[in-house]
Amino acid sequence: MWEDLEVALEKIETGKMKKKPSSDDLGFGVHFTDHMFLMKWDKASGWHDARICPYQDFVMNPASMVFHYGQAIFEGMKAYRGKDGQLYLFRPQDNFERMNRSAIRMCMPRIQAEKMVKVLKALVYLDKEWVPAAEGTTLYIRPTMIAVEPALGVRPAAEYYFFIIMSPVGSYYVEGCAPTKIFVSDEYVRAVKGGVGEVKTTGNYAASLYMSEIAKKAGCTQVLWLDACEHKYIEEVGTSNIFFMLDDTLVTPPLEGSILGGITKASVIQLAGSWGVDIVERKISIDEVLEANDNGILQEVFGSGTAAVISPVGELFYKEKTHVINGGQTGKLSARLYTELQAIQNGSQDDRFKWVQRVG
Ligand SMILES: *Cc1c(COP(=O)(O)O)cnc(C)c1O
Repeated sequence: MWEDLEVALEKIETGKMKKKPSSDDLGFGVHFTDHMFLMKWDKASGWHDARICPYQDFVMNPASMVFHYGQAIFEGMKAYRGKDGQLYLFRPQDNFERMNRSAIRMCMPRIQAEKMVKVLKALVYLDKEWVPAAEGTTLYIRPTMIAVEPALGVRPAAEYYFFIIMSPVGSYYVEGCAPTKIFVSDEYVRAVKGGVGEVKTTGNYAASLYMSEIAKKAGCTQVLWLDACEHKYIEEVGTSNIFFMLDDTLVTPPLEGSILGGITKASVIQLAGSWGVDIVERKISIDEVLEANDNGILQEVFGSGTAAVISPVGELFYKEKTHVINGGQTGKLSARLYTELQAIQNGSQDDRFKWVQRVG
């Protein structure tokens, strides 16, 4: 499978293979598989030294530019084990293409998206025993690029690593999808137009931690971000995009520079559209949402993202007040989207949009 990829294969010695965690004790991103992919880039040779090798530590120069100026981008995707035992990837090419958009914005080298899909399939196939089988469990995949040139000048680095690591992860919800309590931040913001909010670069997540801690202390699981100028228009929630079912129309904020364009979001729009749901991408303010909720026309609210797929919102906590959405219950559309997206992802439903790719 990898012979024609110009990727060296260095398999782990059988005796050094790690013990696999049991499927009820996976957590999120704490266990890593036996192998990883790594390649290096420098100005003279471009990408080179591509290899699938045993999962290993890096020896890093403390002056590596990623440590100082945060030139780093990543992706998040999953491999799913179907009921037929086959392994599937969901729109993997879209993730690598998005990574290239992140690379351009962060002055980093681009990767060959099509080739990376093939490399990823080879890597997943090699570590196939690590893809868990229990309901809702998956293999989370983290492609990452970092600046490794040792230098302290502020400029794009001349050397990079691109790597892919993989981690078996538990079901996001113990029992199907359950509504969450969300903190609406009216003080701190995630991203500004013209900034880097629309790309998956590490600094965005470091910058969100302070507000996330405040939200946690208030008993909320995620932060709903408002726009940076007026603190009025809704942007997204945690690492998910957001949707509002309002008076029989599905409303989601438009991608205008500060919101990360989710692959799950695009899939929700396509899937719900195919069911005849009216969908509009338009600005929506927190005041409009809460007023609609008071008037009984806000039917449901949910987030979309790779980690949780669909995450219904049961409560919004805004300016010290709790607003219960849809009686704190999972809405009909949320439940249907969750079930159908999962069924497509694990190959048990006809893949009419050609989203799924089989591994091996
Ligand atoms: C990754 C991410 C999303 C969701 O993107 P998916 O491709 O659907 O997983 C949404 N918002 C932010 C900030 C993200 O980092």
